[in-house]
Amino acid sequence: MRAFSARPSYPLVMALTLYDTAARAKRPFEPADPERVTMYVCGPTVYDHAHIGNFRAAVVFDLLFRTLRRAYGPEAVIYARNFTDIDDKIIAASAASGEPIKALTDRYAAIYKAETAALNVLTPTVEPRATGHIEDMTALIDRLFAAGAAYAAEGHVLFSVSAFEGYGALSGADQEEIRAGARVDVAPYKRDATDFVLWKPSKAGEPGWPAPKAWGVDGEGRPGWHLECSAMIARVLGETIDIHGGGQDLRFPHHENECAQSACANGAPLARYWVHNGFLRMGAGKMSKSEGNVVLPRDLLQRWPGEALRWALLSAHYRQPLDWSDDLIAQSKRQLDKFYRLFLETPVEVNGAAPPAGVIEAIEDDLNTPAAFAALHDARDRAMASEGAERAQIAASLRAAGDLLGFFHSSAEDWFKGAPEEGGLSAEAIDARVKERAAARNAKDFARADAIRDELAAAGVVIEDGPDGATWRRG
Ligand code: AMP
Ligand code: ZN
Repeated sequence: MRAFSARPSYPLVMALTLYDTAARAKRPFEPADPERVTMYVCGPTVYDHAHIGNFRAAVVFDLLFRTLRRAYGPEAVIYARNFTDIDDKIIAASAASGEPIKALTDRYAAIYKAETAALNVLTPTVEPRATGHIEDMTALIDRLFAAGAAYAAEGHVLFSVSAFEGYGALSGADQEEIRAGARVDVAPYKRDATDFVLWKPSKAGEPGWPAPKAWGVDGEGRPGWHLECSAMIARVLGETIDIHGGGQDLRFPHHENECAQSACANGAPLARYWVHNGFLRMGAGKMSKSEGNVVLPRDLLQRWPGEALRWALLSAHYRQPLDWSDDLIAQSKRQLDKFYRLFLETPVEVNGAAPPAGVIEAIEDDLNTPAAFAALHDARDRAMASEGAERAQIAASLRAAGDLLGFFHSSAEDWFKGAPEEGGLSAEAIDARVKERAAARNAKDFARADAIRDELAAAGVVIEDGPDGATWRRG
């Protein structure tokens, strides 16, 4: 595997536009400080295996991270993605299995990191965990009390939505929608049905932290989910960040609530651009655990290279719904094969090459990946129609595009030895047959050696005899 290469020095062409949910329009992206570009994305709650729908945000915002790094330099971009490691679902999972909460959340966080890495998702600059920031959370609640935006009731601390005039502006949720949302979580102690929890009491045996005396709340408690993100953002990135991202379902109430708390506590807006990705669908609707139509990266990675899953996830524009199927993955794998076949025939060094202009233009236009993929194919067609230095130059520009988009991280040789398509021979099985063939040749049993070669050819495996023995690739 090739390591992710250090960014070559591209000219700082930057005409990035992003669709900003708050503005309901595409806007030219301009960071507050080009030497310190900040992005936060709400990360996973770690109590179980993620499904491939959960990975759409990880891959989309990885692409945005790479795009920003290319434009502002890798050191200038600070990307934070959190782990929610305290939550009712985590407590329930731990109680059900007997595995201590810390061990459970550490385990699933490690699995999430390993699986996203298999899709060439770069490690974010900072990965804060909620339980590492409880003091930041209690300090934020102190400030909300001081601002008159928080009140205590029956062991809870609540945010008073009437304290924030701009409530609803981000998501466009109207009063009726807000009230309908609030009916899901009615509680008699709320002054207004739309108020939401900042801190809630922990029952005996549940994890808890002492509440500051001044709040007038007895016993131990724990933070609400919305508050966690607001506190971690302020601590690791600052009070106003450039980009806040997440899945579109997070616009309301999660992001609306983050906005309200942070603005009331800091007297400054939380984010300058809000970016939301659409859903992955399978069958009749959204892929979700409760619908029972989930596919796990864990299982997919047994059968497919991570890059094929990444290609599939980026094959639709990030704001559009994407229908997931085995056929989509198989098609994605075949597209990647075409590029790797070019690299197999035209070995190149990326050094200094720039991606094709069409790829950059497409990505800078609100991450238009379908157009970027079309530009990749165009460049490949041009390479196939040319030869010599010209062909090598185009192949190098494609490798550079791969660094920008998160593809072509394998050597061409490794790629063609990768996971077989459904029903194909595994690499181990092929290695064994190739050894048998070598033994047959040594024993001068050429009929048998040829029979093995034909059998492998029928399975789509090409054997090439060289001075150091035979090698193979998937044809
Ligand atoms: P959940 O498991 O439903 O709590 O979702 C966790 C995160 O994954 C949220 O940020 C959602 O936005 C995201 N998510 C869940 N299901 C999908 C899906 N089918 N497509 C895209 N994102 C999803
Ligand atoms: Zn969040």
